Amino acid sequence: MGLLTGTIFDRPLHCERCDRPETECQCPPVEIAPGWTDPGKQTARLSTEKRKKGKLVTLIKGLPAKENDLPKLLTQLKNACGAGGTIDGDVIELQGDQTERALKTLTQIGYRVRST
Ligand SMILES: [Zn+2]
Repeated sequence: MGLLTGTIFDRPLHCERCDRPETECQCPPVEIAPGWTDPGKQTARLSTEKRKKGKLVTLIKGLPAKENDLPKLLTQLKNACGAGGTIDGDVIELQGDQTERALKTLTQIGYRVRST
């Protein structure tokens, strides 16, 4: 009777984000599809490269295809930049210099971005 009352064993599970008991937690669920890595834990590396005939392409590296939905990301980036693009292994390639828009889009999704 009462000996264990108030010990940590009585403490209900608390949410790691808001520190409320889980019954009172109102945090939105984290939207990460199963199998994918949290964007906030990854750093995308943005760079531009000159191709044949002086054409510029924007490269996004550092996001492994195994851990990210790259086709979906490419679609989001193409829409945001209004440019074509492809995926080459773990690298997303956008036509033209899309550094600014790509940076904004990636940041909005939650990625950390380093521009080189
Ligand atoms: Zn919470």
